[in-house]
Amino acid sequence: MRVAIIGGGVAGLAAAYELEKNGVPYTLFEASPRLGGVISSEIVNGAVLELGPDSFLTEKPQAAELCRELGLADQLVGSNDEARKTFIVVKNRLIAMPDGLMFLIPTKLIPTAMTSLFSWGTKIRMGLELLHPPRKTDGSDESVADLVCRHYGPEAVDRLADPLLSGIYGGDSSQLSAQTVLPKLVEMEQEYGSLTRGMLAGHRKMKAAMKKRANEVSAAVQPGSTSGSAAKPAPARTIFTTLKGGMKQLTEALTAKLNPTAIRLNTPVTSLEPISVGWLVKTGESEATTQQYDAVIIATQAWAAGKMLEKVDAELAADLTGVAYSSSVTVNLVYKDSEINLPDGFGFLVPASEGRAMLACTFVHRKFLGRTPPNQAVLRAFLGGMRGESLLAESDASLIETVRRELMDILHLTAIPITTRVTRWRRSMAQYSVGHNDRKARISDHVAKLKGLYLAGNAYDGIGISDCIRLGRKAASEISKL
Ligand SMILES: Cc1cc2nc3c(=O)[nH]c(=O)nc-3n(C[C@H](O)[C@H](O)[C@H](O)COP(=O)(O)OP(=O)(O)OC[C@H]3O[C@@H](n4cnc5c(N)ncnc54)[C@H](O)[C@@H]3O)c2cc1C
Repeated sequence: MRVAIIGGGVAGLAAAYELEKNGVPYTLFEASPRLGGVISSEIVNGAVLELGPDSFLTEKPQAAELCRELGLADQLVGSNDEARKTFIVVKNRLIAMPDGLMFLIPTKLIPTAMTSLFSWGTKIRMGLELLHPPRKTDGSDESVADLVCRHYGPEAVDRLADPLLSGIYGGDSSQLSAQTVLPKLVEMEQEYGSLTRGMLAGHRKMKAAMKKRANEVSAAVQPGSTSGSAAKPAPARTIFTTLKGGMKQLTEALTAKLNPTAIRLNTPVTSLEPISVGWLVKTGESEATTQQYDAVIIATQAWAAGKMLEKVDAELAADLTGVAYSSSVTVNLVYKDSEINLPDGFGFLVPASEGRAMLACTFVHRKFLGRTPPNQAVLRAFLGGMRGESLLAESDASLIETVRRELMDILHLTAIPITTRVTRWRRSMAQYSVGHNDRKARISDHVAKLKGLYLAGNAYDGIGISDCIRLGRKAASEISKL
């Protein structure tokens, strides 16, 4: 059995690692000169700068589990949740997101009533939302904006749903699929009608389950208990987890476990062809070479996968190419801490209606402690997204100037940064548009008919790092069992 892995982002690397562990020979083809895909970090004068993703969601365990497996347990750092406060920019003012928001849903009456984020009309609508009857639906998908607007009105879309989703996906809430991006809310609407009631009921159930677990643990540590006096209550989980030396520690540790002779950098795969005993993999534009493999894992962006499969299955290729992708720019700015004055919190989100280039800005040194020297502060602006594609064509100097101008308007920040880094990520973040679940089912049906072909990456079943690791490892372990 010989396997070709196409794409050396975290999904492809996780697949290669799994094959390596299982003793299955493979070749990993990567188009660019480096491995890691969008995961890329730099350490400048002691400050960790994340040029791509800065962390993973702790709730999804696959990334932390892999880090532990790779010997990085002592490098894991939780987010500084005590300082977690996120602001929304409204007419150049920073307004804290009200307490009690869960998955966009307001669940606490007083903070929602007191916030200046919403007008009284929206607040009254949020109260009346409790009376929504359960929804009869034909199962068709709709956009996140439509779902949120139906319950809480357009202002909740503009000031909450849209900025949150563009800060995460670089996405546009009027295009993102409610069924894929917010499946829990779609279920709640069917069961409870009101999303607020559904969320509160879910929260009560979760608290009861946690209390039960805590009681079981404390019973287990009672004197005379036979079930192990070593049992300790689990430490509180933080929302995000990162690595002390940057997210690149994960991709570097993965790479270190791979056979270096199995890695082909600067080697784009141009096409695939199924043959009776496997697949022919064609690489290189000018000096094309073709090699034969028993199985292939495509771990590239879906549009690149579509291109490779054009001649194999035109319908599959069209569905893959049809997955929308957003491009983004990160601008890291390092300041002398003494020269800037930031509000308490993790950072802010910018609604599209504000007409700014920035979608979000993270106060990095506050979100993760111990990764920035004490006399420095790191601000990371996130730009681009579905509505800001044209920004990628701008020069570094112009993007820095734009970010600094906007920081001056919003934070009154005039200090000159001591270090700057601008990084462009073209068509890197998959967008789960309305109808994504149907597209995904069609893709799976077609792939199932192509023996020895597997897909992994952020276009299918979750865009987060843990999702990509899960899909990469799953494909490899299925192949290892053949
Ligand atoms: C700016 C940014 C911030 C993000 N922040 C977070 C975050 O904080 N937390 C989180 O969980 N997720 C975050 N994400 C999402 C997450 O990082 C990505 O979804 C994930 O890392 C994608 O991994 P991947 O391996 O699927 O794809 P990629 O990292 O895109 O890798 C695909 C690889 O395939 C290669 N390739 C393409 N075509 C070919 C070809 N023809 N032949 C060979 N190789 C090819 C590419 O060069 C690339 O290296 C962020 C994404 C971006 C862009």
